[in-house]
Amino acid sequence: MVIVGVLLLLNSYPLLVSEDLVFRSKATTLQASVSVMVNSLSGLDRLTEENVTAAMSVVEETGLSRILVTDGAGRVLYDTRETGANVGDYALYTEIVQALMGADAFSCTYKGAAFRSRASSPVLYQNQIIGAVYAYEYDTEQAALLADLQSNLLRLSGVVLVVVLMLSLILSKALTRKIGLLLTAIRQVREGAYSHRAEIRGRDEIAQIGHEFNSLADRLQITENTRRRFVSDASHELKTPLAAIRLLSDSILQTDSIDLETPREFVSDIGREAERLSRITEDLLRLTRLDSGILEPGTAVDVLPVLEQAMRMMSLVAQEKGVDLTYSAAEGCTVLAAKDEIHQVIYNLTDNAIKYTAAGGAVQVTLSREAGQVVLSVADNGVGIPEADLPRIFERFYRVDKARSREAGGTGLGLSIVSDTVKRRGGSVEAANRPGGGALFTVRWPQTEGEEAG
Ligand code: ADP
Repeated sequence: MVIVGVLLLLNSYPLLVSEDLVFRSKATTLQASVSVMVNSLSGLDRLTEENVTAAMSVVEETGLSRILVTDGAGRVLYDTRETGANVGDYALYTEIVQALMGADAFSCTYKGAAFRSRASSPVLYQNQIIGAVYAYEYDTEQAALLADLQSNLLRLSGVVLVVVLMLSLILSKALTRKIGLLLTAIRQVREGAYSHRAEIRGRDEIAQIGHEFNSLADRLQITENTRRRFVSDASHELKTPLAAIRLLSDSILQTDSIDLETPREFVSDIGREAERLSRITEDLLRLTRLDSGILEPGTAVDVLPVLEQAMRMMSLVAQEKGVDLTYSAAEGCTVLAAKDEIHQVIYNLTDNAIKYTAAGGAVQVTLSREAGQVVLSVADNGVGIPEADLPRIFERFYRVDKARSREAGGTGLGLSIVSDTVKRRGGSVEAANRPGGGALFTVRWPQTEGEEAG
């Protein structure tokens, strides 16, 4: 629209200005010619056909299409136009009427590729109007120049218009193509095709939005994959004990023997499987709570009493398994967290250490302070963890040896809970193998001063 407006202006303003210039120059030259003729008649006291023709024959006026001289009443005394010579008739053209009333008159029109200019002035004798001279010029030369200018401007405008149209078409094509790609990608991902990406090259804003969208889709894909795996793992974990319970209960129903011992055994198996189920659901609930992102503000918790309590409890488990559980602790290890969280972490790690250590092994728990951090380490001399599995053991349901874990009553969620719990309070946990065999888990929390708060 703007371009069209500019082009319209370009096609009208210069023409109007040139036209006006021509009008002005015509006015000057034509009026000068007329006044020359008026001068040549000025000596006469009365105008007649003869004296006017005589006077006019001396005036050399070329380039004019018509010269007319009238008497005071507007009757033609002299006319240069041969065809239809009007001598004797009245020529009451507007300009002549004006001249007979005493004023110089001029008019000019530009039409049909020609300038038509008319000028008229009165002829005076002793301040009396005795007649009028009228000149008419028909000019196609300057009109042709103007027409040339006009057609040049038109051609130029045409070229500009085509170029602008093509440019804007190309630009908008490129733009809409990119936006189209982005839209397709957004729709695809919205419909669940999480692997679809927007292929937008370049470094403009739309390409940047495309890149941002792609990384968003990456995140979505990861989250979605994790969620799917979690759901499928969780259902699998729940399915196994449920299937066992069904099998056991079917067996009881189908047993006709009066022997009381077999059903009793089966029922106790069912009880064990139910216990497993409740452990899994408890762990899942704990993880869901951790995932929900609602973090209660922590209080300054002194870890030592929590550790002592956990050790009292775990020593019974260790004793039962024939594992030697010892611990050493420094005082003043304060962490901004909740007591239950700390207990859960110590419990899960110690429980694992005992679980994966054979009878006669040893588990050593150490609590210390190191450069503004509270460090809890749980070391055992058990089976250890294959190096290849080390990076994955904090994943949900990940177990190195499924059968062994299940046998030991593990859910595969213990370490995920530890990792999530610790990370939520700005801490970290890492797993390693000890040089002499066995695993070593190290938890670090930021140390907090401020026992008064707790
Ligand atoms: P689980 O309930 O199976 O113990 P965890 O999340 O607590 O699940 O642990 C994940 C896996 O890491 C375990 O199945 C086991 O293979 C391995 N693991 C954990 N702690 C130890 C340890 N102290 N020694 C050896 N392997 C361990």
